[in-house]
Amino acid sequence: MKKKGMIIIVSAPSGAGKTSICNSLIKSDKNIVYSISTTTRQPRKGEKNGKEYFFVDNKKFKDMVKKNLFVEYAKVHNYFYGTSKKMLEETLNKGKDILLDIDVQGAIKIKKQYKDALMIFITTPTLKILKERLIKRNKDLLDVINTRVKNAKKELMYLPRYDYLVLNDKLDISIENVKSIIKAERLSIKRNKNIIGGK
Ligand code: 5GP
Repeated sequence: MKKKGMIIIVSAPSGAGKTSICNSLIKSDKNIVYSISTTTRQPRKGEKNGKEYFFVDNKKFKDMVKKNLFVEYAKVHNYFYGTSKKMLEETLNKGKDILLDIDVQGAIKIKKQYKDALMIFITTPTLKILKERLIKRNKDLLDVINTRVKNAKKELMYLPRYDYLVLNDKLDISIENVKSIIKAERLSIKRNKNIIGGK
């Protein structure tokens, strides 16, 4: 029997460097497929429909929920985000790993349905550093930044539900750390039960 792929969930407060880490993973590991979510938020500068997200309006999103097209969906920062059931299942059945860049609510919902999902949490070494990075990024107003830091505190309460924690101080080291986690998980006994002892 062909080995199924693994679900890799990566969650992080905004500003922790998750996007850079995920982009690097996708580029360097051809066995990992990025799960393209559907969202009701507007595309940011440089984002393309079907690349970072599928951008839809509220009506279409609700319709997709009704049709049961999402394996999980959640409201994050006032917009809806959902993970495609079809893309997830097809990728796993091909034996490829799928990378889900989703929030803590979505991560818990996936873990309930897929007990083997690997859960990685990325954050900055301190909340003070997170705030400094958000200010430096110069993308958001100060009250938005304060809300994000407040949200980060709430997200940290979900840490015990995750398998690994990566404190992103230096980006290249964090990328290596995430790669090491994935490498070790691929070699774990629990993910190779059907192979060991087989013909
Ligand atoms: P952004 O709008 O900055 O790209 O993402 C905002 C938040 O939504 C991030 O925490 C991201 O991980 C999360 N997110 C993106 N796609 C999904 C999804 O399909 N489901 C859930 N639950 N969260 C998502």
